[in-house]
Amino acid sequence: MKTLLQGGAVVSGTGVQRADVLLENGLIIGVGPDLPEEDARTVDCTGRLLFPGFIDGHTHFDLEVCGTITADDFRTGGRAALRGGTTTVIDFAAPDKGETLSHGLRRWQEKAACAVCDYGFHMTIDDWNETIEKETGEMLKQGISSFKMYMTYPAMMLPEGDMYKALLRLKEVGGIAGVHCENSGLIDALIADAKAAGRMSPASHPRTRPAPLEAEAVGHLLRMAQVADVPVIIVHLSAKESLQEVCAARKRGQTVYVETCPHYLLLEDSVYDNPDYMEAAKFVCAPPIRKKEDREALWEALKNGEIQTVATDHCSFTLAQKRAGRYDFTKIPGGLPGVEHRGILLYTYGVAEGRISAEDMCRVLSENPAKLYGCWPQKGVIAPGSDADIVVFNPNTEGVITAADQVQNVDYTPYEGFRTKGRIEQVYLRGTLAVYHNRTQETKGEFIRRGKCLL
Ligand code: MN
Repeated sequence: MKTLLQGGAVVSGTGVQRADVLLENGLIIGVGPDLPEEDARTVDCTGRLLFPGFIDGHTHFDLEVCGTITADDFRTGGRAALRGGTTTVIDFAAPDKGETLSHGLRRWQEKAACAVCDYGFHMTIDDWNETIEKETGEMLKQGISSFKMYMTYPAMMLPEGDMYKALLRLKEVGGIAGVHCENSGLIDALIADAKAAGRMSPASHPRTRPAPLEAEAVGHLLRMAQVADVPVIIVHLSAKESLQEVCAARKRGQTVYVETCPHYLLLEDSVYDNPDYMEAAKFVCAPPIRKKEDREALWEALKNGEIQTVATDHCSFTLAQKRAGRYDFTKIPGGLPGVEHRGILLYTYGVAEGRISAEDMCRVLSENPAKLYGCWPQKGVIAPGSDADIVVFNPNTEGVITAADQVQNVDYTPYEGFRTKGRIEQVYLRGTLAVYHNRTQETKGEFIRRGKCLL
């Protein structure tokens, strides 16, 4: 059965065009003005924007961390993703300590067996030896083309020489690294100082992870990447000073890709000064929420193309889980929920407020992540032959975000009470209507085999 989306405006990274879109067997088979109805089921999309399904390149579903497990798994997280227009997530697979990458991949494939949206994995490299070096090539064959490394959290970090070797090896096999950049040693020293002084509340969280220590690690990584002559991705970049490091590297001729997150674009660090522990703990994540000037610099960078993608780093914990750190801010499980609200937030505070265009939004949510993570043009574009992943967006309506009507499996949202412009009315996942006016229907997610970076 064919479906014809009629009369909408199709958004791409380069323009918005009035066009019908014809879907069949999970694929887009036609895009153009006034396509013939023939035997198709027709859907009136007059006045609607049609975006390619959004891709969230940074989620953590079903992750055991901080002595607990994230509140969302691939079912609940996937349902929230779909409701927010995200049809593909790229989560992080990680081997257990001392295990092989293949072991990590198998474990995550099992976790994702219940996925309701499409998914891929970045592979975490937190150990370096001959087996893992060999396996990086095997990962590419398995459709895993991006890898995660850490410059903070001692248990996850590679020794510097190994990190350099890993960067070289990834270049050889056609992979790319995304790196969590925060200086580890100084952060640990600042945490020890705060604890010694008895400053145990969430207010100490941002003070022990200040922006210069992110920028230092970004600069450090970029010098390593310069010597290795490899492109890299800075994940969840949060600070103006970090952008300056990226800018300097680009001036030297390096290729650097940058991801930021909605919470860095929309929130400010005063959230940590709330005397109510739970209110402040809700916002604990790393890097922490920054200052107004950082937020403004990020919007500017998004507008002028210095930031390639906005992903959520969705890592949800319930308030009960967040309570674990009530006497010690370092024990608060770090992470924010966000996968359900990224699209509407970007539209409301980006497009509707004139900071970015609808094309920019399409680029950072769909087109760029598809290219960066090697699943273009299967994903990230409304064009014949691509997967029929489509968001039908009504720009002429308003709403308010509240945890009371979200489907992500968590009892708060960092965006409680945020007013929204527009609404995601329908979401198609490979041609199946997955969301219709806030109701989600059963869908089955598929593993997306990805190739080399195309951005
Ligand atoms: Mn993360």
